[in-house]
Amino acid sequence: EKKKLIAGNWKMNGNLEANDALVRALVAGLKDGGCEVAVCVPSPYLAQVQMLRHGSKLDLGAQDVSQHAGGAYTGEVSAAMLREFGVRYAIVGHSERRQYHGETDALVAEKARTALAHGITPIVCVGETLAEREAGKTEEVVKRQLAAVIHLNGHCISEIVVAYEPVWAIGTGKTATPEQAQQVHALLRTQLAAATEHAARVHVLYGGSMNAANAASLLAQPDIDGGLIGGASLKAPDFLQIIAAAS
Ligand code: 13P
Repeated sequence: EKKKLIAGNWKMNGNLEANDALVRALVAGLKDGGCEVAVCVPSPYLAQVQMLRHGSKLDLGAQDVSQHAGGAYTGEVSAAMLREFGVRYAIVGHSERRQYHGETDALVAEKARTALAHGITPIVCVGETLAEREAGKTEEVVKRQLAAVIHLNGHCISEIVVAYEPVWAIGTGKTATPEQAQQVHALLRTQLAAATEHAARVHVLYGGSMNAANAASLLAQPDIDGGLIGGASLKAPDFLQIIAAAS
């Protein structure tokens, strides 16, 4: 049985002082064993958090990565650069990047490929909007989003992390019910199983208003292998409670 993975996505939040207090509290509160834990921080803070986490079991993640290896791409951050800061995970295809930055399924797949090529585990986000759910298109949407990544990353597909984040649950306080989430997670697992014999070892995370109160019931579902946590990852006591629920 694999350990669960709890990853915080700080999004565009934090400052040197707040990060220092948060990461120190996390490092002090993490227990041996339990689950795997990571924080995905804004790029300017990678060096700070890398120093603070040194020697602890807290892993470091980025929130995006360029699909390009390097060169004339103003504003972009490459996978090789992330590796220099000890980054283990990079979120790709978060719904906020799909929505506000026009990221397509094909681009997300390329980003996952670049991450994998540099020894970074992509956390590939999929999820339907409220309109898509209400139109009965949830299955079609998440399948299409994951298919693009499977198509491009073929034999490496067991090395990715998948995060199911229903867009209507992100930052809204509306969580998918454990049953709603499990239904989609089972679909994603089946899709992975058609592409790799190692589908069981892929972490499929749930994200969307996961908090200290609802984490345990979501994490009890057979195909929910952890969480991708936004708001509740910014407060050490809340994040530590979610970690405890996964341990
Ligand atoms: P919230 O936990 O704030 O809803 O955000 C979820 C998310 O988007 C994590 O990537």
